[in-house]
Amino acid sequence: MSEDLGITAKKSDLSEWYKQVVVRGKFADYSPVKGMVVYRPNGYGIWDQIMHNFDKVLQARGAKNTSFPLLLPESLLKKESEHFAGFTPEVLWVTQGGASDLEEKMALRPTSETIIHHMMGKWLQSYRDLPLRLNQWNKVYRYETKMTKPFIRGREIIWTETHTAFASKEEVADETDWAIHAYGDFIENFLALPLIRGRKTDSDKFAGAEYTLGVEALMPDGKALQSGTSHLLSQKFSVAFDVKFLDEKEKWQLAWLNSYGISMRLIGGLLMIHGDEKGAIIPPKVAPIQAVIVPIIFKGKEQAVNTVAKQLHKDLLEGELRVELDDREGYTPGWKFNDWEMQGVPLRIEIGPKDVEAKSVVIVRRDTGEKVKVKLTNVKEEINKELDSLQTRLFEKAKKDLESRTVDASSLDAVKKAVADKKWAIVPHCGDAKCEESITEATETGPRVIPFNKKMKSGSKCVGCGKEAEYLVLFGKAY
Ligand SMILES: [Zn+2]
Repeated sequence: MSEDLGITAKKSDLSEWYKQVVVRGKFADYSPVKGMVVYRPNGYGIWDQIMHNFDKVLQARGAKNTSFPLLLPESLLKKESEHFAGFTPEVLWVTQGGASDLEEKMALRPTSETIIHHMMGKWLQSYRDLPLRLNQWNKVYRYETKMTKPFIRGREIIWTETHTAFASKEEVADETDWAIHAYGDFIENFLALPLIRGRKTDSDKFAGAEYTLGVEALMPDGKALQSGTSHLLSQKFSVAFDVKFLDEKEKWQLAWLNSYGISMRLIGGLLMIHGDEKGAIIPPKVAPIQAVIVPIIFKGKEQAVNTVAKQLHKDLLEGELRVELDDREGYTPGWKFNDWEMQGVPLRIEIGPKDVEAKSVVIVRRDTGEKVKVKLTNVKEEINKELDSLQTRLFEKAKKDLESRTVDASSLDAVKKAVADKKWAIVPHCGDAKCEESITEATETGPRVIPFNKKMKSGSKCVGCGKEAEYLVLFGKAY
């Protein structure tokens, strides 16, 4: 493999390493459109697996898939002022149709609350129509001015956004909570990305939300990756969009609204967390290709090896495994090994003339490089066993790493030290917004979440001002 095709950057040089893995591992490529990339089958294939599996979770919860227009009239976007103000700086506008100016300029949706609430207002009649859960697997557009990065930050975002309406605040709060835990469990289980779940501080909540819950992952360079959010929206939305229903006493009531979303940035997270010096390692549950069969050909033995390889490929596909056969001519087995390793395929299955004679194959794991010789008769079971084991190992390794880089801090210096060591820090905080800002400035970090599962010691003092602390806040740099 020539230099320019392999991964030459060290993972410790994360930014350059990431760029090489994304492009050379064929996950995404830069396009002629600034800030928008092309997601290639290796990258989009992971999203396919996420859609396929998470859609089942949504459907089981009662959400239905829909499609709303990409364009939002300015007047609609403006209806909820806080929301509009929050998104205005990054809206992309369409002002012309052909050669003529549009009567009203249109936004490429930065998110779909406004149009969905508008339609919900039209459809909702009675309490019997509730709850309402509408989902979209779609794209949204935000004119990012920060440096863009494939998967992580771009002007075109591929995601899922779910919008729900309820009759009571208890129900909408329950949904907001359910969503963040559903995301957390799914991301940990399928993407093997360990997270910290919590509530956003007010400074960091969604534009127009009463509160926002979030899940955060910690990248190898010490930066946090916001990996999913769920918002309990203020009733200003139901007022603005007239989302009302008749209750059991035939009285009009405002509906309680919520929205939640996860995006393809999760894929950027898993590439960074699991990859090594050779390239990506994709967790088997979301890998577009779980195993690749590479025949090892020697002159005169081609036919015997190729026949067994083809038959094995067919058998494994019937077993619902996602398997490729790499019978490309003109590439050496060593070149192929590197190529698939870089792309993160979890298992490689080697078949040579000796294996054919012994009716066996060699399975090689992408994460540990371990090789096991297995009989063809139980190759399916062995592959499934190795895939499970690899999935578990990736998660446990990442979890240990997350735990070792999550520290408690009781002073600003301790927060700074943590950040310098590529960690994030949990600190007691008084709850005051100005004080929070002063911590952000002094430590060059930001509040990530108020973690759910961590109790504060009574009598703790705020790291910012020394006053009595109200709760714990996780502070860290962010993407
Ligand atoms: Zn304080």
